[in-house]
Amino acid sequence: MSDPAEPLLAWYDVHRRRLPWRAEPGEAVDPYRVWLSEVMLQQTTVVAVVPYYRMFLARWPTVTALAAAPLEEVLAAWAGLGYYARARNLHRCARLIVDDRGGRFPDTEAALRELPGIGAYTAAAVAAIAFEQPAAAVDGNVERVMARLFAVTDPLPGAKPRLAALARTLVPERRCGDFVQAMIELGATVCTPTRPACLGCPWHPRCAGVRLGLAAGLPRRSERRQRPHRQGVVFWLTDPAGRVLVRRRPPRGLLGGMLEFPGTEWIEGAAPDADAIALAAPAAKIGGPAPAAKIGGPAPAAKIGGPAPAAEIGGPAPAAKIGGPAPAVKIGGSAPAAKIGGLAPAAKIGGLAPAAKIGGPAPAAEIGGFAPAAEIGGLASVASCGGSAPAPAVAGGIAWRLLPGQVRHVFTHFTLALEVRVGCWRPADVGRGSVPVLALEGEAGWWLTVDELGREALPSVMRKVVTHVAESSGADGGRRGQGEGGA
Ligand code: SF4
Repeated sequence: MSDPAEPLLAWYDVHRRRLPWRAEPGEAVDPYRVWLSEVMLQQTTVVAVVPYYRMFLARWPTVTALAAAPLEEVLAAWAGLGYYARARNLHRCARLIVDDRGGRFPDTEAALRELPGIGAYTAAAVAAIAFEQPAAAVDGNVERVMARLFAVTDPLPGAKPRLAALARTLVPERRCGDFVQAMIELGATVCTPTRPACLGCPWHPRCAGVRLGLAAGLPRRSERRQRPHRQGVVFWLTDPAGRVLVRRRPPRGLLGGMLEFPGTEWIEGAAPDADAIALAAPAAKIGGPAPAAKIGGPAPAAKIGGPAPAAEIGGPAPAAKIGGPAPAVKIGGSAPAAKIGGLAPAAKIGGLAPAAKIGGPAPAAEIGGFAPAAEIGGLASVASCGGSAPAPAVAGGIAWRLLPGQVRHVFTHFTLALEVRVGCWRPADVGRGSVPVLALEGEAGWWLTVDELGREALPSVMRKVVTHVAESSGADGGRRGQGEGGA
């Protein structure tokens, strides 16, 4: 039988889709564009990737430009595309290419595999498409085509090595890049998961799956183990200016380096207990020797008596016992000092954590329990402390209100259900002559307006929290079972 690549390439010449990262016939291929698109396409659809690809390319047209960008900007631009480790690896890889390789991508599969964020599939795709190397890039589309073409009935994932080996037997000596793209294209548009359009397939005459009447049921899959389910609590804390407390996740691990709202750990099996919730909640920490607030300048230590009460969750907070005058503190380096109820409080977020960043680019916050909360979307009325909202019946502590419903999210390896608790941080409530301290156990945190939140690289699960809070605004009916999505 003739070379199987020939009918596929002939079909591709006629049916290839025009995609923004795909070079037209005769056009030079830019490895940067190929690499950028392939990283974006990992676990994401073409439709979702197109606008991000265009935006990245407009902003960072070369690997050198991307390498020069701050990571935070790249993460923010990536927001919404999911699986954020890809964005961090993209940035690391760009810097490595520029710093160690003079801005040139390696041209072999093996050398590409050594770069951050480049696995077997991406290395093969870049090697073939950008450098015409005889590589077989095998993704889910290609696995499906191979299983059907060769009538492989062994189930996935065990059959992966065999399907990859079969794909390699088909790689031609020329037009390697077109061949890789044609295989992927065939799986995406003709040999689809359900109801493959076999009559329009260039491999129909040689397809063993069709011949044996097995095609539509392939590839088979081993029974999938159910994902474990985790639960947690997340805290939506606002200040009188309507800003929301956020923190950054640790740089490594799930959603590494991304912003989040403070919360408990996500635990498998049972919901976090009261102790875990109390420990994780941003607490008005009043009493004991208050740490010196070092925010944008030297702050005097506050002397406040009595043991520090934990913030009470879902109930009245203990009364604050405080003494001593509060010195004025400049918050946020270049940011203007926040004026809080006539008293400038020392603000410390995080116990041993670094100084809280309050202010930054935000305008001066005229806080005091009397200033109107920022009216931003439907969020302000949920949990902002100012405006006409009645003051919580607490002094010093934070009263948390549990929103009805849960935020649900599906990660690759587990499902998650989050309770959302909303509360207000009202420094003015702790009384005149006091120094309220906001403690956020173990992590540094800072305030963002809801507008600023919208510009930040929030992971999908945290965006769902924002939506949940907004939908609960003025109503007791939170939305249950929100949509699923990636990280
Ligand atoms: S003939 Fe049908 S089943 Fe076989 S490869 Fe083509 S589309 Fe897939």
